Amino acid sequence: AAAARATDLSKVYGEGETQVIALDSVSVEFRQAEYTAIMGPSGSGKSTLMHCMAGLDTISSGSARIGDVELTTLKDKKLTQLRRDKIGFIFQAFNLLPTLNALENITLPMDIAGRKADAAWLDKVVATVGLAGRLKHRPNQLSGGQQQRVAVARALAGQPEIIFADEPTGNLDSRSGAEVLGFLRNSVREMGQTIVMVTHDPVAASYADRVVFLADGRIVDDLRNPTADSVL
Ligand code: ADP
Ligand code: ADP
Repeated sequence: AAAARATDLSKVYGEGETQVIALDSVSVEFRQAEYTAIMGPSGSGKSTLMHCMAGLDTISSGSARIGDVELTTLKDKKLTQLRRDKIGFIFQAFNLLPTLNALENITLPMDIAGRKADAAWLDKVVATVGLAGRLKHRPNQLSGGQQQRVAVARALAGQPEIIFADEPTGNLDSRSGAEVLGFLRNSVREMGQTIVMVTHDPVAASYADRVVFLADGRIVDDLRNPTADSVL
C-alpha cells in the first residue's frame, strides 16, 4: 500500500521571465515501511517535492496524497490537522526548545495537539533511538547527535504514517550522523515507519531501501538498495 503518492505533480514558482519549474510532472509512490532517500543536485527539486508531499507547500498541478487523502482538497485547518496526525518532520536544524528536557521536547507536539502519547509506543521509540538514560537532560546537555535523536523521537512519538526528513544529518559529524541514520533504519525495521529522506550524502542514502534521483524537477532514476539492512 502507498503511504504517500505523487501523480503528475508539478510545482511552478513565479511567473513570466522569473518562472521556475521546480517539479515537472513527477509521479512517485512511497510504500508503507519503506525508507526512501531522495538525491540529486542542488536545485533539482528535492526540498520542493518533500514540502509538497508533506502539505507544507501548495502544488501547481497534479495530485499529492498522504494515504488516501488528496492534499489539494484540504483547507488550511484540515491540512494542519493531517500534518499533525499523520506526518512526522525531521529538519537539518534540530529545532528543540532549550528550556524543555528531552522527554518534554519529544512529547511537545502531542501536548500542543492535546493528544496523549501511547505509553508503550513512547517507550519503544525512546529505546529505539537510544535515549533511555537521557530523558531528563536539556538540549545543551546533549551532543548534536543526541539532540537529533530527540528530534527523531519527537517525529515518531505521535505514530505518524510517514516521516519526512530534510538533510537530517546535515549538521552532524559523520559518527553522530551514522548513529542517527542507524536509529532511523531501526525505526523502519522495528516499527514499520515510512521514511522519505532528502540527502546529499551517499553514506546517508546507503541506509535507505530505495534511492530516487531528481534532476531538473524530474525523476531520472529509482534504484533499490539490496544491502540497506547490512549497514547496521
Ligand atoms: P533542492 O532541494 O534539490 O536543492 P529545491 O526544491 O529547493 O531544490 O528548488 C528547486 C528549484 O525551485 C530551484 O530552481 C529553486 O531555485 C526553485 N525554488 C525553490 N523554492 C523557491 C521559491 N520559494 N521561490 C522561487 N523559486 C524557488
Ligand atoms: P529549507 O529546507 O528551505 O531550508 P526548512 O526545512 O527550514 O527550509 O523549512 C521549510 C518549510 O517547513 C517552511 O515553510 C517552514 O515553515 C516549515 N517548517 C519548518 N520547521 C517545521 C516544523 N517543525 N513543523 C512544521 N513545519 C515546519
